[in-house]
Amino acid sequence: LNRRLDGHGTTIFAEMSALAVATGAINLGQGFPDTDGPEEIREAAVRALREGRGNQYPPGPGVPELRVAIADHQRRFYGLEFDPDREVLVTAGATEAIAAALLALLEPGDEVIAFEPFYDSYAACIAMAGAVRVPLTLRAPDFRPDLDALRDAVTPRTRLLLLNSPHNPTGMVLTRDELTAIAELAVERDLLVVTDEVYEHLVYDGEHIPLISLPGMRERTVSISSSGKTFSFTGWKVGWVTGGAELVTAVRTAKQYLTFVSSGPFQYAIAEALRLPDGFFGGFRDQLRGKRDLLTAGLADAGLGVHRPQGTYFVTADIAPLGEKDGIAFCRQLPERCGVVAVPNAVFYDDPDAGRSQVRFAFCKREEVLREAVTRLRGR
Ligand code: PMP
Ligand code: GLN
Repeated sequence: LNRRLDGHGTTIFAEMSALAVATGAINLGQGFPDTDGPEEIREAAVRALREGRGNQYPPGPGVPELRVAIADHQRRFYGLEFDPDREVLVTAGATEAIAAALLALLEPGDEVIAFEPFYDSYAACIAMAGAVRVPLTLRAPDFRPDLDALRDAVTPRTRLLLLNSPHNPTGMVLTRDELTAIAELAVERDLLVVTDEVYEHLVYDGEHIPLISLPGMRERTVSISSSGKTFSFTGWKVGWVTGGAELVTAVRTAKQYLTFVSSGPFQYAIAEALRLPDGFFGGFRDQLRGKRDLLTAGLADAGLGVHRPQGTYFVTADIAPLGEKDGIAFCRQLPERCGVVAVPNAVFYDDPDAGRSQVRFAFCKREEVLREAVTRLRGR
């Protein structure tokens, strides 16, 4: 393994899911739903396979049906116009979009400011690009970004802001005021922005505002999203990028040499998913809000300090009130102690002390599973 990937061994999600399988514990670690997305969308994938749509290399930027559906989705939900031919790119999940964007846009030695705790692929991809990550730490209890600290973190070497809202793992959702301040800073200091908005439809308090909708951002922003979270098909790995043509072309250039194209038949199915009525999106969100409330109440009842998330399908909880200090040790023991798997937030920080007693639980699970997990944690 080269030095760039030093410290990026096995991802925490793979480690914790393997632990869940080995111990038979309830897996509230890795974020994936335990109920698949809509039957009609699964059928659409089967139909595409049978009818031979996408079984051979599809077009590099994505099949036209999906690119048009993505552009229509951006118009329907946000009033944003994108040219499906030049300003939309289909990727192998948001994960490839993040990698392709960072590899396409960064020079070695460039500084990238990113919220800490980071989603784990950010640090690894910044490292693979030979760039330098500069963390902006989100602090408990409410994990709001310190905008003065952000301004101070910008140096002449800063090339890019890497944002994530709704934010994994804290559930923080940026407000319009915060987004406006960030956009103004990006314009003033001429920064590019890569914004990971995969949880765009999972906001329970407040609203999701795409950063690219703010003045001056269109030419400097790469927006990333994914069908995995919105439609509960995390295994299909259909994601996308939207943005100004110049930046999307740059990301597409890198994508060509990562995966060349993304897998075909699922693209047709996701094109149909993006056209589901508004009721689907709202209904799914309301269902998850109920699960958030169930798990946050249960964790509080079990004695943990709960940081109520405004979005995503994760809740960050503090184990200090249990008399525990170290989330990593706690998560390694938890399956044996009570048959539940969670993820320690410390692994998402450069400064492990900042998140040492924080632990992340996923609530994208059936209610009876969440209830059982809470019962087990109470008896821990
Ligand atoms: N970004 C964030 C913030 C995530 O939580 C995830 C995990 N799903 C991804 C990106 C990756 O998305 P995908 O599965 O579409 O690659
Ligand atoms: N995004 C999901 C999470 O944060 C899982 C992604 C993964 O396993 N890489 O848990």
